[in-house]
Amino acid sequence: MREIVLQGGTVVDPSQKLHGVYDVLIGEGKVTAVARRIPAEDRMILDVSGLTVVPGLIDVHTHLREPGYEEKETVPTGGRAAAAGGYTAIAAMPNTRPVTDSAAKIRQLKQLAAGTPVRVWPVGAATKGSLGEEAAEIAAMAESGACAVTDDGRGIQSAGMARQVLQLCAQSDLPLLEHCEDESIAGCGQLHGGRLAQKLKLPAIPVSSETVMLARDILLAGETQARLHLMHLSAAASVEILRLAKERGLPVTAEVTPHHLLLTENDVENLAALAKMKPPLRSAADRAALQSALAEGVIDIIATDHAPHTETEKNSSFADAPFGVVGLETAFPVLYTCLVEAGILTIDQLVDRMSCRPAAVFRLPGGTLKPGSPADVAVFDLRSRYKIDKTRFYSKGKNTPFHGLTVRGRPVLTLVGGRIVMRNGKVY
Ligand SMILES: [Zn+2]
Repeated sequence: MREIVLQGGTVVDPSQKLHGVYDVLIGEGKVTAVARRIPAEDRMILDVSGLTVVPGLIDVHTHLREPGYEEKETVPTGGRAAAAGGYTAIAAMPNTRPVTDSAAKIRQLKQLAAGTPVRVWPVGAATKGSLGEEAAEIAAMAESGACAVTDDGRGIQSAGMARQVLQLCAQSDLPLLEHCEDESIAGCGQLHGGRLAQKLKLPAIPVSSETVMLARDILLAGETQARLHLMHLSAAASVEILRLAKERGLPVTAEVTPHHLLLTENDVENLAALAKMKPPLRSAADRAALQSALAEGVIDIIATDHAPHTETEKNSSFADAPFGVVGLETAFPVLYTCLVEAGILTIDQLVDRMSCRPAAVFRLPGGTLKPGSPADVAVFDLRSRYKIDKTRFYSKGKNTPFHGLTVRGRPVLTLVGGRIVMRNGKVY
């Protein structure tokens, strides 16, 4: 394969504290040099001047829906959506049908993902069938290539079961990804318990359903010394507990989604079921706390929680619609436009939280353009504006709250292992 030079782009690679105009040389699937000027020789030249070159984005929270819910998404359609969004790797959640709760099912998922344009890292279930009753075969799944375990979609309801899972995670050196939701508090809640819940006469999902489990698991992680990763934080109170845990040096990390960073409960009024997700969108004060915790690094990672559903499902009444929104094809541009251009985050922080930190926390390849690392690269156009159009998504899921939004930061080129998998919006 011919060597490739990405020529004249602005390279933003926080893993090397690099931010400037550089050429990037790629050969045999790896980044081989980053320098001011790399001679063309007989190399393939990709002119990226005026564009921004970053280590490929890594989404640690993607629902691919296959096997079992292929009408919502498949491994190939989700993989293409990822490549289209500038992602080079995604972690696939186990809440499929059947649930990915054994070494054999981890291997099956790897086979399913073999022809996918991006790297797919399987996540195993924490408990059998994600029912919360009996721990899954965590050690065997780790050996088969699971990068983490979770019962996502649900939290582990029993403290004793969570403790047992964390002990097994510690033995296998895998993180537990916790969806913090105490169902004895959340019940059949539909949205945040503010003005809108009263107006719509729908049951609320109190903040304590999140904080109670989050605090519980932080205590358990401290005791078991297992790696605990808290998924999709939604509330200022969660950030405060996380901050304390980090100050005490506990092995805890956390993520936040683009929708929790950008929307509030008030958006439910216009977006209806397109703003229905778990945990729910909360107050403007909660959103502000999530944004500043992300900027400070208290929250480590931005993860999409890409949750495709069919249009029929999402078009039903608010109470009947399923929870969740898609995110892979919109995350970078909406965050760039609404956080970086607004001065809330720097571009370096955004790339760090979407690429470098996910690689480090989940111990995955990528997240850097250091010579010798895999040539997983994304290129974005931060200059021109465009309108987000869900009808052009590669994902089967069109359930985005950001349709029609004018943004900058369009993904224009994605390389995985040195291979071009997306160029100018076309996925290969
Ligand atoms: Zn979840």
